[in-house]
Amino acid sequence: MSPEFRSRGIVALIFDFDGTLAVPTLDFAHMKREARKVIARFCPVPEAAVPTMELLDIVEAAHPDLAEAIRPAVLQRVREVEVEAAARSSLFPYVRPMLAACRTFGLQTGIITRNCPEAITRVFPDIAEHFPCIVTRDDVPRVKPDPEHLLAALEQLGVSPEETLMIGDHPMDIVVGQRAGTFTAGLATGEASLEELRSRTPDYCEASGEALMRRLGIFS
Ligand SMILES: [Mg+2]
Repeated sequence: MSPEFRSRGIVALIFDFDGTLAVPTLDFAHMKREARKVIARFCPVPEAAVPTMELLDIVEAAHPDLAEAIRPAVLQRVREVEVEAAARSSLFPYVRPMLAACRTFGLQTGIITRNCPEAITRVFPDIAEHFPCIVTRDDVPRVKPDPEHLLAALEQLGVSPEETLMIGDHPMDIVVGQRAGTFTAGLATGEASLEELRSRTPDYCEASGEALMRRLGIFS
C-alpha cells in the first residue's frame, strides 16, 4: 500500500456495485417508466423527479391505504428490470485481482447497493465468497444516501467510519460516505463524470477502479 494510504489507517473498503464493480447496464429512466405504469394501476402518479424508491415513498405517503398493495407490485416489476439488466452486465476486470490483493493486505471488503440481491448475484455468482458483507436495499429500511445504509455495513464488519473508505461511481456514494464519516472515493466508470464527482470533494477521485487501486498502492 502507498505510504499516504497506509497513514490513513483504513482497514475496510466498502463498494457500490453497479458502475463501480460491474458495468452499468441499468436504464433508470426505463425502470421509472415501468414503475409508473404499475403505480398508475392503483392511483394517479406523482410528477416528482426522484428515483423509483423515493417515488414509491411519495405515493405511499399520499395513499397509505394502498401501500400494502402498491409496494410489492412495483418492487416485483423493478426486480424484473434489474435482473434483465444484470444479464447484460459483467464485472470490471480490476475486481478479482483487487480482491486477491485486499486479502494479501488484510483489508476487509463490503458492498452497499440499492440494487436487489438477485441482480448482483446474476452478475457475480460467487459474490458471497469474496464479500463477507453485502447490504442490499432489501436489508435496510432506508437506502443510501441515508447514512444508515453504510453504517449497517460497518456494523457487520465491526469497523468504524474513520477506518473505512467508501468507493462509488455516483455522487450519492460520496454523500453517503461523508454523512457516515468515512473516507470517500469517486470512480468515473458509471453515470457521473470526473468533474461531477470532484465537485463533491471526495478524498480520492479517479477515472477507473484500476487507477484508484494503483493510487492506493493496492496494485503495484
Ligand atoms: Mg453505482
